[in-house]
Amino acid sequence: MEFPTYRPRRLRKTETLRRMVRETRLSVDNLIMPLFVVPGTGVSQPVKSMPGVAQLSVDRAVEECKAIHDLGIPGVIFFGIPESKDSVGSHAYSERGVVQKALQAIKKAVPGLLLITDVCLCEYTDHGHCGVIVEGDVDNDSTLDLLIKEALSHARAGADMVAPSDMMDGRVGAIRDALDEEGFDQIPIMAYAAKFASAFYGHFREAAQSAPQFGDRRSYQMDPPNAVEALREVELDIGEGADIVMVKPALPYLDLIWRVKQEFGYPTAAYNVSGEYAMIKAAAQNGWIDEERVMMETLIAIRRAGADLILTYFAKDAARVLARR
Ligand SMILES: [Zn+2]
Repeated sequence: MEFPTYRPRRLRKTETLRRMVRETRLSVDNLIMPLFVVPGTGVSQPVKSMPGVAQLSVDRAVEECKAIHDLGIPGVIFFGIPESKDSVGSHAYSERGVVQKALQAIKKAVPGLLLITDVCLCEYTDHGHCGVIVEGDVDNDSTLDLLIKEALSHARAGADMVAPSDMMDGRVGAIRDALDEEGFDQIPIMAYAAKFASAFYGHFREAAQSAPQFGDRRSYQMDPPNAVEALREVELDIGEGADIVMVKPALPYLDLIWRVKQEFGYPTAAYNVSGEYAMIKAAAQNGWIDEERVMMETLIAIRRAGADLILTYFAKDAARVLARR
């Protein structure tokens, strides 16, 4: 049908009409809030380059999780900043690690909230890399043993889901086998399946104090131009038992979110990373953009690309906007 018989503007005339024919919806159910947990009590240390985000001690994280749960956000993902770091990231799999303590406390205080843990070593190693260093590079297979220990210690402490983010080969299968053997066969794995060596993570590294002390992560995280390889990575993780597959970052990789969802049809997550958050915050603070509108447009774009779940520092702000509608 052609103009003047068909006039697309007819259905754009009022908000009611627009609401009725909207193709994509963002719900609070789609949101996951990342949290940074630090040792101590009463600590709420703002992350300078991420306005509104703070590192929280366990007691403060409990309060924050209550607020997140009250807003209807279904889940949170934890990153830990340990008291001390060493070459093998011992605090990542210590029973008394910050994430383990947070899991125990929050499971008790906010039982309805889904607790996901980031499984990686970079926040816990003194060199800041995501695994064990052998001859100047991250050694894949010896790292797997430590990731297994970390995932198991999270499951024992009460994690409802684990999310390996290290990009080692074979880690999803190794973690799946270990969880199953220890009786955690009902704990799902959300795999950071296509995680790129991105410049958009800089602010996260301030928040998680995890910047590499030498070199960079390009020998294990993906090369940004590679899309077909990303699909292969996703296929591998699904083959190894991933329940949810993630693309990270989100905005510069919307094409991949789309392709992953189309190709595999699996529950798909996207990480709206710190740099994406910081750009919007900084522009808004300068009065250059309307923060709320840009935030909502960004999140709906990630949904439209095919993400079922969005890990985002905007989760609370977006939940408040959605509650008003
Ligand atoms: Zn890492």
